[in-house]
Amino acid sequence: MIDYIIPEPARTFLPVKDSQSVFPVRRVYCIGRNYAEHAREMGHDPDRDPPFFFQKNPDNIVTDGSFKYPTKSENVHHEVEMVVALKSGGNSIPVGLANQHIFGYCIGLDMTRRDLQQHAKTMGRPWEIGKAFENSAPFGKLVPVENTGIIEKGAISLKINQTIRQSADISQMIWSVPEMISILSDYFELAAGDVIMTGTPAGVGSVQTGDVMLAFIEGLGELEVLVN
Ligand code: MN
Repeated sequence: MIDYIIPEPARTFLPVKDSQSVFPVRRVYCIGRNYAEHAREMGHDPDRDPPFFFQKNPDNIVTDGSFKYPTKSENVHHEVEMVVALKSGGNSIPVGLANQHIFGYCIGLDMTRRDLQQHAKTMGRPWEIGKAFENSAPFGKLVPVENTGIIEKGAISLKINQTIRQSADISQMIWSVPEMISILSDYFELAAGDVIMTGTPAGVGSVQTGDVMLAFIEGLGELEVLVN
């Protein structure tokens, strides 16, 4: 028994669909510009330059269907994304073996303080202030891969107050899930509990207090999140 000298920080867990067990989160990796139309809407060329990654904090995840509008931003954007959760990891994982590390999938929202992110980009500064803030990662329930199979295609969409804002197909990702796992593992040691947000399609935009975000991914169901 460890005698903590301050209160032990709470660990983040993801609920697992149809299970009493929960998935403990170790790290949250995110990929940038992984759908061509979204890269274009952000003013970039959607070429196959090597992908880039950033991170959120595990305790930025919320699973109670709410998103508390953050401080210090006038332009908070929604980004619907498929999240991949790992049951194992390692270094230098070959693309062909990457899928065997997947525990399951869930729907996630990469909420972004776009004004702060844009300012950081302009200044050549890190992105945390725009990406890794409290409640910035509303997630749904994890669905084990046994129930979905390996997901390589299927509809992904987001409605705000019933109006469709983002709509695409998982197969349109520039970098596939196994490619992402393999490349990440060249730079970081991946491990059980790591989750990867796999990028958002075009149509990102701002949310306001009172908005209801309804995310959908084929095979994973829906995630409804209230902005409050
Ligand atoms: Mn994103």
